[in-house]
Amino acid sequence: MHAMSEAMRYHDTRGLDPSRPTFTEVVIKGIAQGGGLYVPDALPSLNLDQILNLCRLSYAQRADEIFRLFGVDVPSERTAALLAQAFGDNFDHPAVAPVVAITPEIHVLELWHGPTSAFKDMALQCMPHFFSEAIAMRRAAGHDVPDYLVLVATSGDTGKAALEGFADRPSTRIAIFYPAEGVSDIQRRQMVTQRGGNVAVFGVHGNFDDCQAAVKAAFNDAPFNDALRAALHTELSSANSINWGRLLPQIVYYASAYADMVAASALSAGDPLDVCVPTGNFGNILAAFYAKRMGVPLGRLLCASNENNVLSDFIDTGVYDIAERAFVQTPSPSMDILISSNLERALYELGRDPERVRGWMNDLAATRRFQIDDGTYASLREHFVGDYCSNEESLATIARIHAATGYLLDPHTAVAWTVAEKHRVDGPVLVVATAHWAKFGEDVYRALSAVPYDAPLPAGAAGMSGLELLREVRRLAPGQHVPAPLAELDTLPERFTKTVEGTRQGVEDAVREWLEAAAE
Ligand SMILES: *Cc1c(COP(=O)(O)O)cnc(C)c1O
Repeated sequence: MHAMSEAMRYHDTRGLDPSRPTFTEVVIKGIAQGGGLYVPDALPSLNLDQILNLCRLSYAQRADEIFRLFGVDVPSERTAALLAQAFGDNFDHPAVAPVVAITPEIHVLELWHGPTSAFKDMALQCMPHFFSEAIAMRRAAGHDVPDYLVLVATSGDTGKAALEGFADRPSTRIAIFYPAEGVSDIQRRQMVTQRGGNVAVFGVHGNFDDCQAAVKAAFNDAPFNDALRAALHTELSSANSINWGRLLPQIVYYASAYADMVAASALSAGDPLDVCVPTGNFGNILAAFYAKRMGVPLGRLLCASNENNVLSDFIDTGVYDIAERAFVQTPSPSMDILISSNLERALYELGRDPERVRGWMNDLAATRRFQIDDGTYASLREHFVGDYCSNEESLATIARIHAATGYLLDPHTAVAWTVAEKHRVDGPVLVVATAHWAKFGEDVYRALSAVPYDAPLPAGAAGMSGLELLREVRRLAPGQHVPAPLAELDTLPERFTKTVEGTRQGVEDAVREWLEAAAE
Protein backbone atom coordinates (compact mmCIF):
# COMPACT_ATOMS: atom_id res chain seq x y z
CA MET A 1 0.00 0.00 0.00
CA HIS A 2 1.35 3.41 -0.96
CA ALA A 3 1.36 6.20 1.56
CA MET A 4 -1.48 8.37 0.32
CA SER A 5 -3.73 10.59 2.39
CA GLU A 6 -7.45 10.79 1.74
CA ALA A 7 -7.87 12.00 -1.85
CA MET A 8 -9.41 15.46 -2.22
CA ARG A 9 -12.54 15.59 -4.37
CA TYR A 10 -13.55 18.44 -6.65
CA HIS A 11 -16.86 19.96 -7.67
CA ASP A 12 -17.67 22.64 -10.22
CA THR A 13 -18.52 26.34 -9.99
CA ARG A 14 -21.89 25.98 -11.77
CA GLY A 15 -23.20 22.93 -9.94
CA LEU A 16 -23.80 20.95 -13.12
CA ASP A 17 -21.20 18.16 -12.92
CA PRO A 18 -22.08 15.29 -10.55
CA SER A 19 -18.84 13.34 -11.14
CA ARG A 20 -16.83 14.48 -8.04
CA PRO A 21 -13.41 13.83 -9.60
CA THR A 22 -10.02 13.58 -7.88
CA PHE A 23 -6.98 15.71 -8.78
CA THR A 24 -5.68 13.46 -11.57
CA GLU A 25 -9.17 13.19 -13.06
CA VAL A 26 -9.50 16.97 -13.01
CA VAL A 27 -6.12 17.36 -14.72
CA ILE A 28 -7.18 15.11 -17.59
CA LYS A 29 -10.72 16.50 -17.93
CA GLY A 30 -9.84 20.21 -17.74
CA ILE A 31 -13.30 21.76 -17.86
CA ALA A 32 -16.34 20.39 -16.03
CA GLN A 33 -19.48 19.04 -17.64
CA GLY A 34 -21.83 22.02 -18.13
CA GLY A 35 -18.99 24.50 -18.66
CA GLY A 36 -18.07 25.18 -15.02
CA LEU A 37 -14.60 25.11 -13.49
CA TYR A 38 -13.42 22.58 -10.94
CA VAL A 39 -12.63 23.73 -7.40
CA PRO A 40 -11.52 21.68 -4.38
CA ASP A 41 -14.29 20.57 -2.00
CA ALA A 42 -12.42 22.04 0.96
CA LEU A 43 -9.46 24.36 1.17
CA PRO A 44 -6.66 23.02 3.39
CA SER A 45 -5.08 25.43 5.84
CA LEU A 46 -1.49 26.29 6.63
CA ASN A 47 -0.50 27.77 9.98
CA LEU A 48 2.21 30.41 10.34
CA ASP A 49 4.85 27.92 11.53
CA GLN A 50 4.25 25.69 8.53
CA ILE A 51 4.62 28.68 6.24
CA LEU A 52 7.79 30.00 7.87
CA ASN A 53 9.35 26.53 7.86
CA LEU A 54 9.13 26.44 4.07
CA CYS A 55 12.23 28.64 3.89
CA ARG A 56 14.36 25.70 5.00
CA LEU A 57 13.22 23.57 2.05
CA SER A 58 14.10 23.47 -1.64
CA TYR A 59 11.43 24.87 -3.94
CA ALA A 60 10.40 21.35 -5.05
CA GLN A 61 9.96 20.36 -1.39
CA ARG A 62 7.89 23.50 -0.77
CA ALA A 63 5.65 22.44 -3.64
CA ASP A 64 5.44 18.97 -2.14
CA GLU A 65 4.19 20.39 1.18
CA ILE A 66 1.36 22.22 -0.62
CA PHE A 67 0.48 19.30 -2.91
CA ARG A 68 0.29 16.99 0.10
CA LEU A 69 -2.17 19.31 1.87
CA PHE A 70 -4.39 19.15 -1.21
CA GLY A 71 -4.71 15.36 -1.02
CA VAL A 72 -3.40 14.78 -4.55
CA ASP A 73 -4.28 11.23 -5.58
CA VAL A 74 -0.76 10.22 -6.63
CA PRO A 75 1.38 8.14 -4.25
CA SER A 76 3.43 10.52 -2.12
CA GLU A 77 6.86 9.27 -3.24
CA ARG A 78 5.79 9.72 -6.90
CA THR A 79 4.48 13.23 -6.20
CA ALA A 80 7.80 14.18 -4.64
CA ALA A 81 9.71 12.72 -7.61
CA LEU A 82 7.52 14.51 -10.18
CA LEU A 83 7.86 17.83 -8.36
CA ALA A 84 11.65 17.39 -8.18
CA GLN A 85 11.65 17.05 -11.97
CA ALA A 86 9.22 19.96 -12.41
CA PHE A 87 11.20 22.41 -10.27
CA GLY A 88 14.84 21.39 -10.73
CA ASP A 89 17.66 22.57 -12.95
CA ASN A 90 15.19 23.32 -15.74
CA PHE A 91 15.04 26.66 -13.87
CA ASP A 92 18.11 28.88 -14.13
CA HIS A 93 17.96 29.99 -10.48
CA PRO A 94 18.46 27.62 -7.54
CA ALA A 95 15.55 29.24 -5.68
CA VAL A 96 13.27 28.73 -8.76
CA ALA A 97 11.06 31.69 -7.77
CA PRO A 98 13.32 34.14 -5.89
CA VAL A 99 12.20 37.37 -4.20
CA VAL A 100 14.48 40.31 -4.98
CA ALA A 101 14.37 43.57 -3.01
CA ILE A 102 14.69 46.23 -5.71
CA THR A 103 13.86 49.12 -3.38
CA PRO A 104 12.88 49.11 0.31
CA GLU A 105 9.27 49.61 -0.81
CA ILE A 106 9.05 47.23 -3.74
CA HIS A 107 10.18 43.62 -3.77
CA VAL A 108 9.86 41.52 -6.90
CA LEU A 109 8.86 37.86 -7.11
CA GLU A 110 10.65 36.64 -10.24
CA LEU A 111 8.56 33.97 -11.93
CA TRP A 112 10.55 33.92 -15.16
CA HIS A 113 13.50 31.65 -14.41
CA GLY A 114 12.01 28.71 -16.33
CA PRO A 115 13.01 27.50 -19.80
CA THR A 116 10.78 29.95 -21.72
CA SER A 117 11.53 33.02 -19.57
CA ALA A 118 7.90 33.66 -18.65
CA PHE A 119 5.67 32.76 -15.72
CA LYS A 120 3.58 30.18 -17.61
CA ASP A 121 6.51 27.83 -16.93
CA MET A 122 5.63 27.80 -13.20
CA ALA A 123 2.50 25.84 -14.13
CA LEU A 124 3.48 24.18 -17.40
CA GLN A 125 6.78 22.71 -16.20
CA CYS A 126 4.69 20.91 -13.57
CA MET A 127 1.23 20.00 -14.82
CA PRO A 128 2.28 17.79 -17.79
CA HIS A 129 4.14 15.44 -15.40
CA PHE A 130 0.87 14.86 -13.56
CA PHE A 131 -1.01 14.53 -16.84
CA SER A 132 1.27 11.66 -17.97
CA GLU A 133 1.20 10.14 -14.50
CA ALA A 134 -2.60 10.18 -14.47
CA ILE A 135 -2.65 8.21 -17.74
CA ALA A 136 -0.02 5.74 -16.49
CA MET A 137 -1.92 5.17 -13.22
CA ARG A 138 -5.13 4.38 -15.07
CA ARG A 139 -3.40 2.00 -17.46
CA ALA A 140 -1.68 0.25 -14.54
CA ALA A 141 -5.14 -0.25 -13.00
CA GLY A 142 -6.25 -2.04 -16.17
CA HIS A 143 -8.22 0.75 -17.87
CA ASP A 144 -8.03 1.26 -21.62
CA VAL A 145 -6.83 4.86 -21.78
CA PRO A 146 -5.94 6.56 -25.09
CA ASP A 147 -2.94 8.79 -25.68
CA TYR A 148 -3.75 12.50 -25.46
CA LEU A 149 -3.08 15.17 -28.04
CA VAL A 150 -2.95 18.68 -26.60
CA LEU A 151 -4.07 21.22 -29.23
CA VAL A 152 -3.16 24.86 -28.60
CA ALA A 153 -3.91 28.04 -30.53
CA THR A 154 -1.42 30.65 -29.36
CA SER A 155 -0.56 34.27 -29.95
CA GLY A 156 2.88 33.69 -28.44
CA ASP A 157 3.85 32.82 -24.87
CA THR A 158 1.47 30.04 -23.95
CA GLY A 159 2.41 27.98 -27.00
CA LYS A 160 6.09 27.89 -26.19
CA ALA A 161 5.53 27.19 -22.50
CA ALA A 162 3.11 24.36 -23.35
CA LEU A 163 5.61 22.91 -25.86
CA GLU A 164 8.41 22.90 -23.28
CA GLY A 165 6.11 21.37 -20.68
CA PHE A 166 4.78 18.52 -22.81
CA ALA A 167 7.94 17.78 -24.84
CA ASP A 168 8.74 14.06 -24.42
CA ARG A 169 6.13 13.51 -21.69
CA PRO A 170 4.93 9.90 -22.08
CA SER A 171 1.50 9.15 -23.63
CA THR A 172 1.03 12.74 -24.78
CA ARG A 173 1.59 14.77 -27.93
CA ILE A 174 1.24 18.47 -28.48
CA ALA A 175 0.43 20.49 -31.61
CA ILE A 176 0.65 24.28 -31.68
CA PHE A 177 -1.05 26.59 -34.16
CA TYR A 178 0.15 30.20 -34.31
CA PRO A 179 -0.79 33.06 -36.65
CA ALA A 180 2.07 33.08 -39.17
CA GLU A 181 2.11 36.87 -39.40
CA GLY A 182 0.98 37.58 -35.83
CA VAL A 183 3.89 36.69 -33.52
CA SER A 184 7.23 38.37 -32.93
CA ASP A 185 10.42 37.09 -34.55
CA ILE A 186 11.66 35.74 -31.21
CA GLN A 187 8.36 34.05 -30.38
CA ARG A 188 8.29 32.33 -33.77
CA ARG A 189 11.88 31.11 -33.41
CA GLN A 190 11.19 29.84 -29.90
CA MET A 191 8.38 27.67 -31.24
CA VAL A 192 9.76 26.39 -34.56
CA THR A 193 13.06 25.31 -32.95
CA GLN A 194 11.29 23.28 -30.22
CA ARG A 195 12.97 19.95 -29.37
CA GLY A 196 11.04 16.76 -28.56
CA GLY A 197 9.70 13.72 -30.41
CA ASN A 198 6.02 14.33 -29.61
CA VAL A 199 5.68 17.97 -30.72
CA ALA A 200 4.50 19.75 -33.88
CA VAL A 201 4.22 23.45 -34.68
CA PHE A 202 2.16 24.92 -37.52
CA GLY A 203 1.91 28.46 -38.80
CA VAL A 204 -1.62 29.47 -39.78
CA HIS A 205 -2.61 31.84 -42.60
CA GLY A 206 -4.65 34.53 -40.84
CA ASN A 207 -4.71 36.35 -37.52
CA PHE A 208 -4.99 34.95 -33.98
CA ASP A 209 -8.80 34.94 -34.05
CA ASP A 210 -8.80 32.79 -37.22
CA CYS A 211 -6.28 30.50 -35.63
CA GLN A 212 -8.27 30.14 -32.41
CA ALA A 213 -11.58 29.66 -34.25
CA ALA A 214 -10.05 26.94 -36.45
CA VAL A 215 -8.65 25.01 -33.46
CA LYS A 216 -11.91 25.37 -31.57
CA ALA A 217 -13.86 24.07 -34.57
CA ALA A 218 -11.60 21.00 -34.73
CA PHE A 219 -12.24 20.40 -31.01
CA ASN A 220 -15.99 20.54 -31.55
CA ASP A 221 -16.01 18.35 -34.66
CA ALA A 222 -17.42 15.06 -33.31
CA PRO A 223 -16.64 12.95 -36.42
CA PHE A 224 -13.03 14.15 -36.34
CA ASN A 225 -12.71 13.29 -32.65
CA ASP A 226 -14.31 9.87 -33.25
CA ALA A 227 -11.92 9.15 -36.12
CA LEU A 228 -8.88 10.04 -34.00
CA ARG A 229 -10.09 7.75 -31.24
CA ALA A 230 -10.85 4.84 -33.56
CA ALA A 231 -7.89 4.99 -35.93
CA LEU A 232 -5.17 6.45 -33.72
CA HIS A 233 -6.34 5.78 -30.13
CA THR A 234 -5.95 9.49 -29.44
CA GLU A 235 -8.11 11.92 -27.46
CA LEU A 236 -7.91 15.71 -27.78
CA SER A 237 -7.16 17.92 -24.77
CA SER A 238 -6.51 21.64 -24.32
CA ALA A 239 -4.50 21.93 -21.07
CA ASN A 240 -5.47 25.62 -20.91
CA SER A 241 -5.24 28.00 -17.99
CA ILE A 242 -8.61 27.05 -16.49
CA ASN A 243 -7.20 23.58 -15.74
CA TRP A 244 -6.84 23.19 -11.95
CA GLY A 245 -3.59 21.32 -12.62
CA ARG A 246 -2.11 24.65 -13.70
CA LEU A 247 -3.47 26.57 -10.71
CA LEU A 248 -2.28 24.36 -7.88
CA PRO A 249 1.45 24.90 -8.62
CA GLN A 250 0.83 28.66 -8.66
CA ILE A 251 -0.35 28.67 -5.04
CA VAL A 252 3.08 27.41 -4.00
CA TYR A 253 5.05 30.54 -4.86
CA TYR A 254 2.95 32.85 -2.73
CA ALA A 255 3.59 30.75 0.40
CA SER A 256 7.23 30.40 -0.64
CA ALA A 257 7.68 34.16 -1.17
CA TYR A 258 6.14 34.99 2.20
CA ALA A 259 8.52 32.58 3.96
CA ASP A 260 11.51 34.02 2.10
CA MET A 261 10.59 37.61 2.95
CA VAL A 262 10.29 36.85 6.65
CA ALA A 263 13.59 34.94 6.54
CA ALA A 264 15.21 37.99 4.89
CA SER A 265 13.72 40.27 7.61
CA ALA A 266 11.75 42.21 5.02
CA LEU A 267 8.59 41.40 7.01
CA SER A 268 7.73 40.43 10.58
CA ALA A 269 6.12 36.99 10.82
CA GLY A 270 2.37 37.38 10.52
CA ASP A 271 2.38 40.90 9.06
CA PRO A 272 0.12 41.22 6.03
CA LEU A 273 1.88 41.45 2.67
CA ASP A 274 0.19 43.23 -0.25
CA VAL A 275 0.84 41.67 -3.65
CA CYS A 276 0.43 43.27 -7.05
CA VAL A 277 -0.16 40.93 -10.00
CA PRO A 278 -0.15 41.77 -13.73
CA THR A 279 -3.41 40.10 -14.66
CA GLY A 280 -4.99 38.63 -17.80
CA ASN A 281 -6.99 35.46 -17.30
CA PHE A 282 -6.99 35.90 -13.50
CA GLY A 283 -5.05 32.66 -12.87
CA ASN A 284 -2.03 34.14 -11.14
CA ILE A 285 -3.94 36.47 -8.82
CA LEU A 286 -6.49 33.73 -8.12
CA ALA A 287 -3.63 31.58 -6.81
CA ALA A 288 -2.74 34.47 -4.46
CA PHE A 289 -6.36 34.52 -3.27
CA TYR A 290 -6.27 30.77 -2.57
CA ALA A 291 -2.95 31.14 -0.72
CA LYS A 292 -4.48 33.91 1.39
CA ARG A 293 -7.53 31.81 2.18
CA MET A 294 -5.28 28.94 3.22
CA GLY A 295 -3.56 31.14 5.78
CA VAL A 296 -0.66 32.87 4.03
CA PRO A 297 -0.81 36.39 5.56
CA LEU A 298 -1.43 38.27 2.33
CA GLY A 299 -3.09 41.68 2.55
CA ARG A 300 -4.63 43.42 -0.41
CA LEU A 301 -4.49 41.65 -3.76
CA LEU A 302 -3.77 44.40 -6.29
CA CYS A 303 -5.09 43.41 -9.70
CA ALA A 304 -3.11 45.32 -12.34
CA SER A 305 -4.52 45.60 -15.87
CA ASN A 306 -3.20 47.21 -19.03
CA GLU A 307 -5.46 49.30 -21.31
CA ASN A 308 -7.74 46.26 -21.65
CA ASN A 309 -8.98 47.16 -18.18
CA VAL A 310 -12.20 45.19 -17.93
CA LEU A 311 -11.04 43.64 -14.65
CA SER A 312 -10.09 46.84 -12.86
CA ASP A 313 -13.44 48.32 -13.95
CA PHE A 314 -15.19 45.24 -12.60
CA ILE A 315 -13.46 45.50 -9.24
CA ASP A 316 -14.39 49.22 -9.13
CA THR A 317 -18.05 48.75 -10.02
CA GLY A 318 -19.20 45.14 -9.65
CA VAL A 319 -20.24 45.20 -13.30
CA TYR A 320 -18.39 43.10 -15.87
CA ASP A 321 -19.16 44.66 -19.21
CA ILE A 322 -17.64 43.88 -22.59
CA ALA A 323 -20.71 44.75 -24.66
CA GLU A 324 -19.14 47.90 -26.07
CA ARG A 325 -15.53 47.27 -25.24
CA ALA A 326 -12.95 47.20 -28.04
CA PHE A 327 -9.82 45.10 -27.84
CA VAL A 328 -6.68 47.30 -27.52
CA GLN A 329 -3.13 46.42 -28.66
CA THR A 330 -0.64 46.85 -25.84
CA PRO A 331 3.05 46.17 -25.09
CA SER A 332 1.85 43.53 -22.59
CA PRO A 333 0.04 41.14 -24.97
CA SER A 334 -0.23 38.28 -22.47
CA MET A 335 -2.66 40.44 -20.48
CA ASP A 336 -4.79 41.42 -23.48
CA ILE A 337 -8.12 39.80 -22.69
CA LEU A 338 -11.80 40.54 -22.76
CA ILE A 339 -13.11 37.41 -21.03
CA SER A 340 -11.05 36.59 -17.97
CA SER A 341 -11.98 32.96 -17.45
CA ASN A 342 -10.57 32.26 -13.98
CA LEU A 343 -12.55 35.13 -12.46
CA GLU A 344 -15.42 32.62 -12.31
CA ARG A 345 -13.54 30.65 -9.63
CA ALA A 346 -13.00 33.76 -7.47
CA LEU A 347 -16.68 34.69 -7.73
CA TYR A 348 -17.65 31.18 -6.76
CA GLU A 349 -15.30 31.07 -3.77
CA LEU A 350 -16.65 34.38 -2.44
CA GLY A 351 -20.14 32.95 -1.97
CA ARG A 352 -19.96 29.25 -2.92
CA ASP A 353 -23.34 29.62 -4.62
CA PRO A 354 -23.31 27.74 -7.95
CA GLU A 355 -26.73 28.99 -8.98
CA ARG A 356 -25.65 32.61 -8.80
CA VAL A 357 -22.43 31.88 -10.71
CA ARG A 358 -24.45 30.11 -13.39
CA GLY A 359 -26.70 33.15 -13.69
CA TRP A 360 -23.76 35.54 -14.13
CA MET A 361 -22.08 33.32 -16.70
CA ASN A 362 -25.34 32.94 -18.62
CA ASP A 363 -25.76 36.73 -18.59
CA LEU A 364 -22.22 37.15 -19.88
CA ALA A 365 -22.82 34.72 -22.74
CA ALA A 366 -26.20 36.24 -23.65
CA THR A 367 -25.60 39.99 -23.16
CA ARG A 368 -21.78 40.31 -22.81
CA ARG A 369 -22.38 41.77 -19.35
CA PHE A 370 -23.16 40.72 -15.76
CA GLN A 371 -23.53 42.43 -12.41
CA ILE A 372 -22.80 40.78 -9.07
CA ASP A 373 -24.98 41.30 -6.00
CA ASP A 374 -24.04 43.67 -3.16
CA GLY A 375 -22.96 40.92 -0.76
CA THR A 376 -20.58 39.30 -3.23
CA TYR A 377 -19.29 42.72 -4.24
CA ALA A 378 -18.52 43.61 -0.61
CA SER A 379 -16.57 40.34 -0.17
CA LEU A 380 -14.69 40.97 -3.40
CA ARG A 381 -13.65 44.40 -2.15
CA GLU A 382 -12.37 42.94 1.12
CA HIS A 383 -9.58 41.26 -0.84
CA PHE A 384 -9.11 42.86 -4.25
CA VAL A 385 -8.11 46.31 -5.46
CA GLY A 386 -8.07 46.97 -9.21
CA ASP A 387 -6.23 49.58 -11.24
CA TYR A 388 -4.67 49.86 -14.66
CA CYS A 389 -1.72 51.39 -16.47
CA SER A 390 -1.65 52.91 -19.94
CA ASN A 391 0.69 51.77 -22.71
CA GLU A 392 2.83 54.91 -22.48
CA GLU A 393 2.94 54.80 -18.67
CA SER A 394 4.18 51.20 -18.72
CA LEU A 395 7.05 52.03 -21.09
CA ALA A 396 7.92 55.15 -19.05
CA THR A 397 8.08 52.99 -15.91
CA ILE A 398 10.58 50.63 -17.58
CA ALA A 399 12.90 53.55 -18.39
CA ARG A 400 12.44 55.29 -15.03
CA ILE A 401 13.04 52.19 -12.88
CA HIS A 402 16.03 51.19 -14.95
CA ALA A 403 17.56 54.65 -14.53
CA ALA A 404 16.85 54.69 -10.79
CA THR A 405 17.78 51.11 -9.83
CA GLY A 406 19.49 49.36 -12.76
CA TYR A 407 16.71 46.73 -12.77
CA LEU A 408 15.04 46.10 -16.12
CA LEU A 409 11.31 45.32 -16.08
CA ASP A 410 9.42 43.60 -18.87
CA PRO A 411 6.25 45.44 -20.02
CA HIS A 412 3.90 43.12 -18.05
CA THR A 413 5.81 43.55 -14.81
CA ALA A 414 5.98 47.31 -15.50
CA VAL A 415 2.16 47.44 -15.44
CA ALA A 416 2.16 45.87 -11.97
CA TRP A 417 5.01 48.07 -10.75
CA THR A 418 3.14 51.22 -11.81
CA VAL A 419 -0.04 50.12 -10.04
CA ALA A 420 1.90 49.02 -6.94
CA GLU A 421 3.54 52.45 -6.62
CA LYS A 422 0.13 54.13 -6.67
CA HIS A 423 -1.46 51.87 -4.09
CA ARG A 424 1.34 51.07 -1.67
CA VAL A 425 0.58 52.06 1.91
CA ASP A 426 3.17 51.01 4.47
CA GLY A 427 5.63 48.14 4.40
CA PRO A 428 6.92 46.54 1.24
CA VAL A 429 4.61 45.44 -1.56
CA LEU A 430 5.41 42.32 -3.57
CA VAL A 431 5.31 42.93 -7.33
CA VAL A 432 4.92 39.72 -9.31
CA ALA A 433 7.27 39.66 -12.32
CA THR A 434 5.85 37.49 -15.08
CA ALA A 435 8.42 37.71 -17.88
CA HIS A 436 12.09 38.36 -18.46
CA TRP A 437 12.60 41.64 -20.32
CA ALA A 438 14.36 39.89 -23.20
CA LYS A 439 11.12 38.19 -24.15
CA PHE A 440 9.68 41.56 -25.11
CA GLY A 441 12.88 43.19 -26.35
CA GLU A 442 11.27 45.40 -28.99
CA ASP A 443 9.10 47.34 -26.55
CA VAL A 444 11.87 47.43 -23.95
CA TYR A 445 14.03 48.97 -26.69
CA ARG A 446 11.26 51.55 -27.29
CA ALA A 447 11.10 52.30 -23.57
CA LEU A 448 14.85 52.83 -23.18
CA SER A 449 15.16 54.95 -26.32
CA ALA A 450 11.97 56.96 -25.67
CA VAL A 451 10.19 55.79 -28.85
CA PRO A 452 6.42 55.93 -28.22
CA TYR A 453 4.55 52.61 -28.29
CA ASP A 454 2.58 53.46 -31.42
CA ALA A 455 5.52 54.98 -33.35
CA PRO A 456 7.62 53.00 -35.81
CA LEU A 457 11.13 52.02 -34.72
CA PRO A 458 13.84 54.46 -35.89
CA ALA A 459 15.56 53.65 -39.20
CA GLY A 460 18.56 51.91 -37.62
CA ALA A 461 16.47 49.52 -35.53
CA ALA A 462 13.56 48.94 -37.90
CA GLY A 463 15.25 46.20 -39.96
CA MET A 464 16.80 44.33 -37.04
CA SER A 465 15.97 40.76 -36.04
CA GLY A 466 14.64 40.14 -32.56
CA LEU A 467 18.06 39.02 -31.35
CA GLU A 468 19.79 42.07 -32.84
CA LEU A 469 17.32 44.26 -30.95
CA LEU A 470 18.28 42.49 -27.73
CA ARG A 471 21.89 43.48 -28.41
CA GLU A 472 20.71 47.08 -28.83
CA VAL A 473 18.91 46.91 -25.47
CA ARG A 474 22.10 45.64 -23.85
CA ARG A 475 23.99 48.57 -25.36
CA LEU A 476 21.45 50.94 -23.74
CA ALA A 477 21.40 48.96 -20.49
CA PRO A 478 24.93 47.64 -19.98
CA GLY A 479 25.33 44.62 -17.72
CA GLN A 480 21.95 43.10 -18.59
CA HIS A 481 21.93 39.38 -19.28
CA VAL A 482 19.91 37.47 -21.90
CA PRO A 483 18.82 33.96 -20.79
CA ALA A 484 20.70 31.26 -22.71
CA PRO A 485 17.65 29.68 -24.41
CA LEU A 486 16.85 33.07 -25.99
CA ALA A 487 20.46 34.03 -26.75
CA GLU A 488 21.11 30.82 -28.69
CA LEU A 489 17.90 30.89 -30.75
CA ASP A 490 19.58 31.85 -34.03
CA THR A 491 21.96 28.88 -33.78
CA LEU A 492 19.19 26.24 -33.57
CA PRO A 493 17.70 24.55 -36.66
CA GLU A 494 14.11 25.47 -37.59
CA ARG A 495 12.33 22.12 -37.38
CA PHE A 496 8.80 23.24 -38.30
CA THR A 497 8.17 25.19 -41.48
CA LYS A 498 4.69 24.15 -42.53
CA THR A 499 1.91 26.77 -42.83
CA VAL A 500 -1.73 25.66 -43.03
CA GLU A 501 -5.07 27.29 -43.86
CA GLY A 502 -6.77 29.01 -40.93
CA THR A 503 -9.83 26.77 -41.14
CA ARG A 504 -11.15 23.68 -39.36
CA GLN A 505 -10.10 21.60 -42.35
CA GLY A 506 -6.60 23.11 -42.30
CA VAL A 507 -6.11 22.19 -38.64
CA GLU A 508 -7.64 18.72 -38.96
CA ASP A 509 -5.58 17.78 -42.03
CA ALA A 510 -2.39 18.95 -40.31
CA VAL A 511 -3.15 16.90 -37.20
CA ARG A 512 -4.17 13.79 -39.13
CA GLU A 513 -1.14 13.83 -41.42
CA TRP A 514 1.21 14.33 -38.50
CA LEU A 515 -0.31 11.54 -36.37
CA GLU A 516 -0.46 9.12 -39.28
CA ALA A 517 3.19 9.74 -40.13
CA ALA A 518 4.12 9.28 -36.45
CA ALA A 519 2.17 5.99 -36.27
CA GLU A 520 4.10 4.39 -39.14
C1 LIG B 1 -0.16 34.81 -18.93
C2 LIG B 1 0.62 36.02 -18.52
C3 LIG B 1 0.07 37.01 -17.67
C4 LIG B 1 -1.36 36.95 -17.16
O1 LIG B 1 -1.53 35.93 -16.20
P1 LIG B 1 -3.00 35.43 -15.82
O2 LIG B 1 -2.77 34.26 -14.93
O3 LIG B 1 -3.64 35.05 -17.13
O4 LIG B 1 -3.68 36.55 -15.15
C5 LIG B 1 0.86 38.09 -17.33
N1 LIG B 1 2.12 38.23 -17.80
C6 LIG B 1 2.68 37.30 -18.62
C7 LIG B 1 4.05 37.54 -19.13
C8 LIG B 1 1.96 36.16 -19.00
O5 LIG B 1 2.53 35.26 -19.81
